[in-house]
Amino acid sequence: MQSFEEGFETRAIHAGHSIEPVTGAVTTPIYMTSTFAQPTPGEHLGYEYSRSGNPTRAAFEACIASLESGRFGFATASGSVATATILQLLKTGDHVICCDDLYGGTQRQFNKLFARFGIEFSYVDLSDPSSMDEHIRANTRLVWIESPTNPLLKLIDIEAVSQRAHAAGAWLAVDNTFMSPYFQRPLELGADIVMHSTTKYIAGHSDLVGGAIVTDDDDLGEQLAFYTNALGGIQSTFDSYLCLRSVKTLAVRMQAHERNAIAVAKYLEDHPAIDRVLFPGLASHPQHELATRQMSGYGGMVSAYLKGGISETRKFLEGVSVFTLAESLGGVESLVEHPALMTHASLPASVRDELGIGDTLVRLSVGIESEADLLADLDQALS
Ligand SMILES: *Cc1c(COP(=O)(O)O)cnc(C)c1O
Repeated sequence: MQSFEEGFETRAIHAGHSIEPVTGAVTTPIYMTSTFAQPTPGEHLGYEYSRSGNPTRAAFEACIASLESGRFGFATASGSVATATILQLLKTGDHVICCDDLYGGTQRQFNKLFARFGIEFSYVDLSDPSSMDEHIRANTRLVWIESPTNPLLKLIDIEAVSQRAHAAGAWLAVDNTFMSPYFQRPLELGADIVMHSTTKYIAGHSDLVGGAIVTDDDDLGEQLAFYTNALGGIQSTFDSYLCLRSVKTLAVRMQAHERNAIAVAKYLEDHPAIDRVLFPGLASHPQHELATRQMSGYGGMVSAYLKGGISETRKFLEGVSVFTLAESLGGVESLVEHPALMTHASLPASVRDELGIGDTLVRLSVGIESEADLLADLDQALS
């Protein structure tokens, strides 16, 4: 068992892992099996059926739990299934407070799936935590936030929101996909549950879709174990292996993402074709102080408003070549996307306008290529 006293990088490489006793294999084997032999009925060697538990998945679950400073980890088939698994904690009549510019797919799931079962959702701009107070109801059971938010990179004070949630008798769940545990650990700030789309920085190579849930609470750990198994949206053994392999380099990748993101944000901020840059690491970000206090780095995501209109923005998006025009984020390769037409197209236009997700907003997932090549690519696409 690894201890939390060991450094992040050490745990990223060793937590959940032990030398395989039969052969001495140094990496965790991929246990491609659906079931496990029992010496006598009802007695097993720790595993009985791979939906309930698989040694490869268990190794990744222990590792991600350790990195998020929790004791219970669950790996799911996607970030979306991680969300759906957490929502199983609720029942008809319960109320959820969410931050307003939530990941589009999460909003779709809340509004189109769970609302049908009589769970109510309020969307609130939580960049000022006190704005939560007037939305709290007797039946508020869960507060669901992302920080920084997507795609506007607004920050939410996790500690302040957790205190308000707990005073109201609600759990706080934080989608930590954008920062990864390397830069931000919500459980240490008072959150009850943290979730990831491991598709993004955790897997980090744009080669799988996955999710993870971590808690440090015994009761939540027990409930989430039950729901993960009962719902059955578990991560495949092979993808669990890929996540376990990728997370070993999370620290060095995040450092490189951030280094390049700072360079890109500064470059764009000085460019005459750019109206405004959104990046928590810039002194111009309205919550730069909170970013510095709450996170140990600023991440690899940069959003910007271009000058002009949709046609100039389209030209820029079609003109990049080191950056790839694609949805998703968090991989080693740089991506750029247009939230209004791509990731957030499922939101009603009125909601997009209200939030500021307009025609000229682009979102960059800055990869770990050479900084000079990224800046040169932006330069030629903007000119
Ligand atoms: C991608 C993403 C999700 C959904 O995860 P999938 O793995 O695509 O199901 C949830 N939250 C955030 C912030 C994301 O970026």
